Amino acid sequence: MSRRPPIKPPKTRFAHVPGGGPTGKTCGDCGHRRFDGRTKYTCQEAARMAGLRPEACQPVPATTDACKYFTPATPRPGDPR
Ligand code: SF4
Repeated sequence: MSRRPPIKPPKTRFAHVPGGGPTGKTCGDCGHRRFDGRTKYTCQEAARMAGLRPEACQPVPATTDACKYFTPATPRPGDPR
């Protein structure tokens, strides 16, 4: 009787290659980068494209150069950045 190998966590992190977005902008300036409600900031666009829950994705550092799906963030009251 064989056992299935453990399921590895998804490596999804960025929506596209970092650096393909507007010059000088970072993921920290992007509206797709949101707090997952638990421990980290993830890219909601990457999660949407991969069909994953945002909390199942890898964290996105705020200092990463923006990708081509960059969308300017709209500050919301009480939203830590
Ligand atoms: S720039 Fe925005 S859409 Fe692109 S990886 Fe960063 S957070 Fe995601």
